[in-house]
This record gives sequence, structure tokens and C-alpha cells, in this order.
Amino acid sequence: MLRVVVLGAAAGGGVPQWNCGCRVCRTARTEQPELQSTQASVALSADGDHWFLINASPDLRQQLIATPQLHPNAGKLRHSPIAGVILTNGEIDAVAGLLSMREGSPFTIYAHPRVLAILKANSIFNVLNEKNVQRAPIDLDKPFEPALPDGSPSGIEVLPFTVPGKGAWYLEGKAHPAGNDGAGDTLGLRIGDKATGKYFYFLAACAEVTGDLKSRLAGAPLIFFDGTVWRDDELIAAGLGNKTGQGMGHIAMSGEHGAIEALAGLEIGRKIFLHINNSNPALLRGSAEREIAERAGWQIPADGTEIVL
Ligand SMILES: [Zn+2]
Repeated sequence: MLRVVVLGAAAGGGVPQWNCGCRVCRTARTEQPELQSTQASVALSADGDHWFLINASPDLRQQLIATPQLHPNAGKLRHSPIAGVILTNGEIDAVAGLLSMREGSPFTIYAHPRVLAILKANSIFNVLNEKNVQRAPIDLDKPFEPALPDGSPSGIEVLPFTVPGKGAWYLEGKAHPAGNDGAGDTLGLRIGDKATGKYFYFLAACAEVTGDLKSRLAGAPLIFFDGTVWRDDELIAAGLGNKTGQGMGHIAMSGEHGAIEALAGLEIGRKIFLHINNSNPALLRGSAEREIAERAGWQIPADGTEIVL
């Protein structure tokens, strides 16, 4: 059995974002506090006892407090059910939470060598002593089975693959610690339960739905997919910024080439948007945009949503 808990569904900044007075952020502070959401991450487990995180968001501490499955086992003085963290990119909203896991519990970080190079180039991450916190490189298109703390297999198979995207924004125009060429900065993951064969896909960042991606996702029981913006020029139109969704490496939900249209008719069991920016009107209950997304079979999840496959 594969258990998945949505620890957070929001894009960088969360909902509400500390310095934002947009409609969604204002509504989340006032009439609809249920809109409040932490930055995107999910936890998954095949045995219900040992858990792996996909990405470690800056809100990790708050997410762990809110998730009983991830509390230390009763009767243990120091313990965490978290056996590992799988990183899909090096953005701040995917890696900063690692710094909240610095109190000496062992776990493994699984990431592409390009993302590991970013961690290595930033000495603050040395607070995670490599004797305790191993850094395991993962290869594109090569499945791996993350290990439990005693070294035994977890029963989970992870297949990382590259998806259209871009490098971390804080490296824009700068030398990438792993060199400026090469794929691996943005990963999609296929996560499977070896015992049951059940699986899901995780793509919190994706700039384009290619034919190859469509054939991967067709027929999947569950996908978590990039829901950053409703429309590509959303931040510019709202006066919130000067970047398009594409410029940030994110496909829009709507439009002819948007995720809703591109992933329609693929017989996907359950479609959940993740990494939803606070500028996105589909977050608002009763909005026309939310209605369109829901009518197309998409779910905008609340933090804490648990799914069992
Ligand atoms: Zn906002």
C-alpha cells in the first residue's frame, strides 16, 4: 500500500505570502483562512512506518508538526520516521527545509548530481554532516529503491526523468556549480509500490507537456502536477512581477497549451495540482477558474490531504 500525504500545495512564498496583498493572499488572511497553504512537498510511505519526503520546503517544520505520521515514535528520546528526502530541483522552496533537519537524525538525501553540486557549493548545508546524512546521486531514467535506516529496502521504486524546466532562479545568469550545460535540474518522478505495482507521478515543475510526457502519464492512477499559474502572464497582469510562467519554468493551468488541455483524455485516475502560486485565481473557492479546473477533473488540495493507493 502506498500512502501519500500532501504536506504543502503552494508555490514559493506560500499562501499567504509574507509581503503580498493580492486578492488570494488577502482572502487567505481574512474570510477564507482555509486557503492558507504551505510550500509544496509530499510525504510517502509503503509500510506506514518509514516515510520519504519529496522536497524539503522552507515550511517543513510547520508541516511536520501538522502531520502525526511524521512525529517521533512514542517512547523514543530521539527519532524520526523520515528515512530520506528526494529532491526534484534545487529551488529554495525544495531544499531550504533541509536546514530544519539538522538535529542529528540520520536520513539520506537523494538528488541528481546537478542538485547535489548546488548543495555542495553552499556551505550552509554542511550543517547536515555527511556521516549522518548521506547524499546519494540519482540518475535520469534509472530506477532506484531508497533504503530504510537499517539499510533494508523500502519497497518503493523511484524513477527520475527530466522534464522541460529551468535551473534555480538564484543561479540565473551565474555559473552553475555543475556547469551550465546538462539535464537534471528539473526532475519528474514516478513512484511505485513494488509489492502492489501501484504508482503515481510527481511533477511540481514542468514547463511543457511533450508527447513523451503524455505517453508516460497516460493511464496513471494518480498525478501531482505543476499548477503554479492559471495563465502565463498572470504575475505581470496582476502587477505582482515581471516574469511569465514560462519564464519561471512553469506551464499554465489554462489555455491551449496549458496543463488542463494538454493532459485531458489520458485516462489519469486522479489529477492533483501542486505548487500553486498565490496569484492563481483557481485557489479561490467559487471562482470561475476553480470551477473550470474541477470540471476538468482536477483537484486543488488542502495541506494534509492523504491518499492511499
Ligand atoms: Zn499574493
